[in-house]
Amino acid sequence: MKTKTTATVLAEQVAQTARTALKRLVSRGELPWPEAYTEEFWAVAKTLEFSSILKKEGSESFSPETIQAFMDATDKVLGGVKDTVNNFLASAKQHVGEMESSILSMEEKDMDNLFREEIASLMLKNKTLEAKAKQTEERLKKQTEIIAELRSKLRIDAPTGLLNRRAFESDLKKELAGVKRYKYPLSLIMFDLDHFKNINDTCGHRVGDKVLKKVADVLKKGIRETDAAYRYGGEEFMLILPHTSAEEAYGIAERIRNKISALRFLVKQPETSLTITVSAGLTEAERTEGIEELVNRVDKALYQAKKEGRNRTVKL
Ligand code: GH3
Ligand code: MG
Ligand code: MG
Repeated sequence: MKTKTTATVLAEQVAQTARTALKRLVSRGELPWPEAYTEEFWAVAKTLEFSSILKKEGSESFSPETIQAFMDATDKVLGGVKDTVNNFLASAKQHVGEMESSILSMEEKDMDNLFREEIASLMLKNKTLEAKAKQTEERLKKQTEIIAELRSKLRIDAPTGLLNRRAFESDLKKELAGVKRYKYPLSLIMFDLDHFKNINDTCGHRVGDKVLKKVADVLKKGIRETDAAYRYGGEEFMLILPHTSAEEAYGIAERIRNKISALRFLVKQPETSLTITVSAGLTEAERTEGIEELVNRVDKALYQAKKEGRNRTVKL
């Protein structure tokens, strides 16, 4: 029987030590990293009292073959360990990859299964809400238009189509605030038909109404876009003329008065051509005065025009 060479014994001891060290590491749940493995290797060799291996520490008495055998055995074991680690890492990596993709696909799945219906119903609700919002918006728009129409109707005198007294009060108030703040001139003209009662009495109310309408048309046409004409009372009219001095307003009042006096109304019974005249009072607003003072003054000017013989303009 062939006696075992030192190298063979050494190789066997190394292999056994390496296997035991590996088993111990794995049983403790540790990875056979080189440092941990080396430490465990020598610990096992000491426990097993493998003298051939232990001699290595501090001993130079190994033959070159012995050292080679030792190196080969160690390399083999470490190679195996390296493969184990690499396999482990590879499979861990693969597992992580699988986990990642399975998490991803799980999320997609979850989204699909758990939330698809939820999302669909939410989207439906959204659409319904959107439609309702649109309906409400349209209704609101219509209501706003109706309100605007009502508002403007509230400001209009239907028989003549001019702005009414309510509009006059509110517009003049605003204009006077503008005058006070921005210091521009503003004039007010008040017209009153002369002896209008006579027209109603002799030609009837319907003719009277037509006259009023015609006068209103002359007023509307006789002013600028920034001016405004109002029916103040039965046969009384007002013009608000912003950025207009009393002198300019006088010219406007006279031009309108002349136009009105040039109107001809054909009446059938009794068959006649009717003419009409107006008296006008006008005044320019003071910077700090209120609506009442201003209207009183223009009324006074009109009264004076009447008193002086009618069919004229008086400036106060
Ligand atoms: P004066 O020159 O002093 O202003 O005389 P007047 O007759 O015009 O004044 P008065 O105040 O005595 O009469 C106003 C008349 O205006 C009385 C009324 O019959 C008439 N009137 C007021 N509003 C209307 C209306 O809407 N239609 C008609 N047809 N007449 C109206
Ligand atoms: Mg009058
Ligand atoms: Mg009158």
